[in-house]
Amino acid sequence: MSSSMRFLLLAIVCSLSFTPGFCQKEEGGKSTFCYDGDCAPRYWGGQCSTGSGQSPIDIRDNGKNNVGTGILYFTDVCWQDHNFILENNGHTAEASIGPNRTSRCFLSGDGEPDGILGRSYVFSQVHFHWGSDTQGKNGTEHSFNGITYALEAHFVHFSSEYKTLEEAVSSNQPRSVAVVAVIFQLTNKDNEALTPIIKALRQLKRSGDKTKGYGLNLMDILRPTNGKTYLTRYEGSLTTPQCAEVVSWVVFNDPRSFVSPYQLKVFRSILDQRERTLENNVRPTQAINDRRIRFFRTSIAYRELYAMEGHFVHYSSEFNSLNDALASNQSGALSVVAVLYQVSQSENQAFNPILNVLSQVVNSGNSVQGTDLNLWKLLPQQPGKIYNYQYDGSLTTPSCNEVVLWNVLISESHISQQQLTQFRKAIDSHEEPMENNFRPIQALNNRIIRVYESQLFSQ
Ligand SMILES: [Zn+2]
Repeated sequence: MSSSMRFLLLAIVCSLSFTPGFCQKEEGGKSTFCYDGDCAPRYWGGQCSTGSGQSPIDIRDNGKNNVGTGILYFTDVCWQDHNFILENNGHTAEASIGPNRTSRCFLSGDGEPDGILGRSYVFSQVHFHWGSDTQGKNGTEHSFNGITYALEAHFVHFSSEYKTLEEAVSSNQPRSVAVVAVIFQLTNKDNEALTPIIKALRQLKRSGDKTKGYGLNLMDILRPTNGKTYLTRYEGSLTTPQCAEVVSWVVFNDPRSFVSPYQLKVFRSILDQRERTLENNVRPTQAINDRRIRFFRTSIAYRELYAMEGHFVHYSSEFNSLNDALASNQSGALSVVAVLYQVSQSENQAFNPILNVLSQVVNSGNSVQGTDLNLWKLLPQQPGKIYNYQYDGSLTTPSCNEVVLWNVLISESHISQQQLTQFRKAIDSHEEPMENNFRPIQALNNRIIRVYESQLFSQ
């Protein structure tokens, strides 16, 4: 993988490095790396030469032995039908969908025996590695019992505890980045999921060129079939300098995706930073050493995100106040009922008492007296039985005290787009518009989620 940030890191290390050939290429003040000649992988510096947990690797087991089971979750709202920017950065073609979108694209994975990912990650970009031969036999970075295929896509994510991919990489912490690798095999048929990328690629030529693309559906590229996916999980590194050992790798072994000779030819039509055809942008496989390689049979699932969530916060009647309940640090001292609001054409009148006074509390620290709030009407207005998820959790804001019995109602309510816009006019304590004020999803670990059939009563 590549990013301009890592060029900067490279520049710093170069001044300290005496590795032959490495850092000889200077371009506009930036150091570069390449895949052949005197800037080839064997001359790469940093952890590329000193590390012991490097990527890619040859995956030697076919996953039939010792397979765990699990689910890999993606939020679908951000993965479909997107405008995107495709860039030739001299090492690869990299597609990004803009920070406003990516801030809502999460990846997480639950699984047995001890978890696929264990935390949630935010999507950053997808890029590709490919070969030069017409048989499509040398293009993937990861290999399977020594066999490589035509093309490998890397869906790069950073741990949601960081703000950007750059911040996650510079932390140098294991597992601060997660990359999902998809393997493409050469077939005669065009892969339609790649069409938006191929169209945009045809607008690119030189290193540094960028173009806009349309209609990218990342989930279609990621998921060749609807069935089970066998994947490999291991801890490794970036596959480009400085090869930081920060990556939780999720390599899809089976089923593989596919790419046509024409599509592969378009990938090979762009130029690297030396104005040569960009091909074989593949780092050789690295020693596994004492790393644990795990295999999972998983389902890929979408998590749906709603437009808005209301938290109705209660404290146990054994305390005198919310603060007392929080200070107790006892689980179940608070109970929060969460209501999910879907965007609808019609307004939800129940929000009007709040929206009528919201303009008077636009700035952080303001408060105002409102009237006529009917909390009951903010709950789902569905007659009869409803379902709810119940689990023991925490506040979703600091100090994230683990004192909350959560009840998330499965029946949803609604809000109009115009009403949502009014909420977004509020200003937060950093004087920024108050939006995306949600915490990323957290690991379930071994907690149990109970599902109840209930009925809402007002007494
Ligand atoms: Zn990569």
